[in-house]
Amino acid sequence: MIEDEAGLRDVFRLVLESAGYDVQVVEDGHAGLQAIQERQPDLVITDLLTPRIHGYELIRRLRATAHGQRVPIIVVSGQTYSADQRRAMELGAGNFLPKPFKRQQLLDIVRRSLELVRVRFWGVRGSIAAPGPETIKYGGNTPCVTIERGQDLLVLDAGTGLRKLGICLQAEAKGRPQHIRMLITHTHWDHIQGFPFFVPAYVPGNRIEVYGPPSVEKPLEKVLRGQMDPAYFPVALGDMAANVDVHEVRDPSFQVGPFQVTAMYVNHPGITMAYRIEIDGTVITYATDTEPYRFLLADRHAPDEELADYGGKRDAELVKFAAGADLYIADSQYSPEEYDSKRGWGHTCYVDAVSVARAAGAKRLALFSHDPMHDDDMIDEKLRRCRDLAAADGPGLEVYAAIEGQAIEIEPPVRG
Ligand SMILES: [Zn+2]
Repeated sequence: MIEDEAGLRDVFRLVLESAGYDVQVVEDGHAGLQAIQERQPDLVITDLLTPRIHGYELIRRLRATAHGQRVPIIVVSGQTYSADQRRAMELGAGNFLPKPFKRQQLLDIVRRSLELVRVRFWGVRGSIAAPGPETIKYGGNTPCVTIERGQDLLVLDAGTGLRKLGICLQAEAKGRPQHIRMLITHTHWDHIQGFPFFVPAYVPGNRIEVYGPPSVEKPLEKVLRGQMDPAYFPVALGDMAANVDVHEVRDPSFQVGPFQVTAMYVNHPGITMAYRIEIDGTVITYATDTEPYRFLLADRHAPDEELADYGGKRDAELVKFAAGADLYIADSQYSPEEYDSKRGWGHTCYVDAVSVARAAGAKRLALFSHDPMHDDDMIDEKLRRCRDLAAADGPGLEVYAAIEGQAIEIEPPVRG
């Protein structure tokens, strides 16, 4: 906690320590940045008008470091102009608590911040990385997502976005051994290319557990090793100093640390899985790289009702799989106009993502797997159209377009 008012420092410490938290309070921004780097706290609370380094600058500088990417930040301030609140949020604060506040308000906001499930996007692009000035807002890296709750972390896919996640995790670890768990949906390049660049895999003492679909020709481990063949890459998987365990997913339901995972095959060339992940009652369904059966079959058996019914039934399985999800992360690669010429490529149009989310009764939808040909303006337009579509059916579905480097926060369910 960074607070320059001496009286408040004591109050903060007393309130939080009596609730069982381990608290370190410093007086200025400079000491704050130093303490954060040394302690790697679970939460940072800062005033805005902090001496030496202002709260804004502290947030900006912290977010620019590898070790400070993920730590939640609460701003407490007597300066409660909405412009200041907005600025703090834009820089990366998660919450703003106006001064003065009651003891219970502080405790509530701290508890909420520590119990929230955060779904963070490290790579959101489908097919191939597409960096450049035209994709700077949404990002150019290929799929990598983390589900985080406190110290618990689950990685979804190992696309090029995994590289930066690895750097951040390594900086946070400060030499302590790490146990990292990862689910891979399938082994197309865009979902595994970050793996050879995952720094924690080269650190002795670390344990990396990778779960993914079984492959027909070669075991999953061989597929991961294959991209590290000397013809493509200077280091072999065997040279990774960490203990890397690769598990092929055989059971439809399994436990990965505190995460309960259900897997389902989806319609995409090769063997591809979608995952439904549950932690303490919060449900996230991750279904990137999938194409509706009925769209594909309609092409082949156009007017035949009996055959068309089959596609509808298969597609209903995905709706059931995403039922009631707090967040549905969905393939939304094409516009409906583009989809006609991309039929059979294993992806879907964003209109379909909205209709699955709606039918499933999902609370939030993250449009994901952005097409490498789509610039930021096109994704803005996709988001606008999807929000209109969702709103046409009434309230209840929040729609986001996944942005690299940003997190969606999900409140823990209220316990009776
Ligand atoms: Zn794919």
